[in-house]
Amino acid sequence: MRVAIIGAGPAGLLVGSALAGRGHEVVALDRDAGPPRHGRWPRRGVMQFHHAHGFRPQVGLVLQDEWPAAFTAWLALGAEPITFELPGIGPVPGGYRSRRETFERALRTISNDVSGLSVEQGHVDGVLSSGGWVRGVVVDGSRLEADLVVDASGRSGRAADDLRAPSTVGGLCGMAYVDRQYRLRKGAEPGPMANPLAWQADFDGYQTIVFLHERGHFSVLLVRPTADAALKNLRHPAAFEAACRAIPGLAEWTDPGRALPVTDVLPGGPLRNAYRGQRGVDGRPALPGLVSVGDAVATTTPTFGRGLATTFLQVRQLLALLDTGTDPALVGEPFDAWCTDSMLPWVLDHTYMDGDLVRRWQGGDVDLTRRLPSDLILSAASVDPRIGRASPGYLTMRGLPSCLDPVEPLARAVYESGWRPAASPGPTRNELVDILDAAMREGGVAAPQVEFGAVSAG
Ligand SMILES: Cc1cc2nc3c(=O)[nH]c(=O)nc-3n(C[C@H](O)[C@H](O)[C@H](O)COP(=O)(O)OP(=O)(O)OC[C@H]3O[C@@H](n4cnc5c(N)ncnc54)[C@H](O)[C@@H]3O)c2cc1C
Repeated sequence: MRVAIIGAGPAGLLVGSALAGRGHEVVALDRDAGPPRHGRWPRRGVMQFHHAHGFRPQVGLVLQDEWPAAFTAWLALGAEPITFELPGIGPVPGGYRSRRETFERALRTISNDVSGLSVEQGHVDGVLSSGGWVRGVVVDGSRLEADLVVDASGRSGRAADDLRAPSTVGGLCGMAYVDRQYRLRKGAEPGPMANPLAWQADFDGYQTIVFLHERGHFSVLLVRPTADAALKNLRHPAAFEAACRAIPGLAEWTDPGRALPVTDVLPGGPLRNAYRGQRGVDGRPALPGLVSVGDAVATTTPTFGRGLATTFLQVRQLLALLDTGTDPALVGEPFDAWCTDSMLPWVLDHTYMDGDLVRRWQGGDVDLTRRLPSDLILSAASVDPRIGRASPGYLTMRGLPSCLDPVEPLARAVYESGWRPAASPGPTRNELVDILDAAMREGGVAAPQVEFGAVSAG
């Protein structure tokens, strides 16, 4: 079978290598030229490429099953497997410390060795179809015939837009990232950690996370409401550095005696939750010969680092369907059913949770008139340990978000008692704004006069 894959990101390369390994003739097309032999890989078009990434265990597990050479290459570039200690369960695989660039560099480089897979540079302009079947793709104006087209074009991919119904779930989540990568000085120990992968602190209108990557690299990440235009100043190095000095845990991590920045301050584009099934614009069953996978199907706000796990779980399911004899041209329908059951709940969970968090960041209280969002259920475990028994399924993604349903009433009782999660030690949102404004003035950058709630583009 001839397979054309739109996108040679993690989803496209994993599907491509796996299908080539099953004897198919695969071409993966990407507008990106791939990593340079030396120096930084700019990777324009994948906004998150240089942003903080944490890697869940599923990423390594699926890779070991489907593309062991890529897993080995990733470890050789420095990826560090970690374990988590779960209460009542003991040590469990916790994922991997790695930069996203390190991960993709391993996949893209080793893809050159996969017999039957050709990764080519080109922009896919659209998908060819006739007689109700997919026939291939148009690449930079030229036709490429294929029996199966896999849309692995990511959260912003548009190539199959005229054949797929748009996302009706999720939308902009109201949060934006700004982060920066650092490297520990030789012999320096990491700063404070909440678990082997990350440190996190939650404030009254923003959040900060540190992800430890491989070989002493780490990312410092500040998450702010998109609507809070005053916090947008975090994108200026002087303001970002001032915030790092003012937030106790970050001050330790970014102490110049401990670590040095290795990138600029990186503002991210708007974050979104989205789910797009396989069905056509008219709602009819998926077009035979076209299947979408990865972020092109399900995108979740990255604060829980689920995207690559959901992507690789989708790829594993797609391959399992094909391996059990499903006609490749018709695989879209059963795959759609699985994604509806297993992926959509995560998008819905994030959509609900993010909306409520942004509302609370803007001064709202816990809303006890409706189901508690998952983050609040998890927080209440510090008061009622029975709640914690349900959390491993949710946190490890071995269960679906509904695994928290049985303990929601317990969490509700905690909040009904008047308890609220305490903010981490550090500046309130208003104090942080003053700190940023002062840093901007000292740095000679005029701080814009904005009110909280003004809409900003991110
Ligand atoms: C800010 C941010 C932080 C994140 N952090 C985490 C994290 O900590 N942990 C985690 O697991 N996930 C995280 N994610 C999610 C993760 O990055 C995605 O789930 C992952 O990139 C999905 O892989 P993909 O292959 O489906 O899509 P992508 O990585 O987006 O790859 C799509 C590819 O398709 C190509 N392409 C698109 N259109 C065309 C076209 N027309 N022609 C040719 N090529 C095309 C692009 O160039 C790209 O190479 C984060 C996401 C964001 C936005």
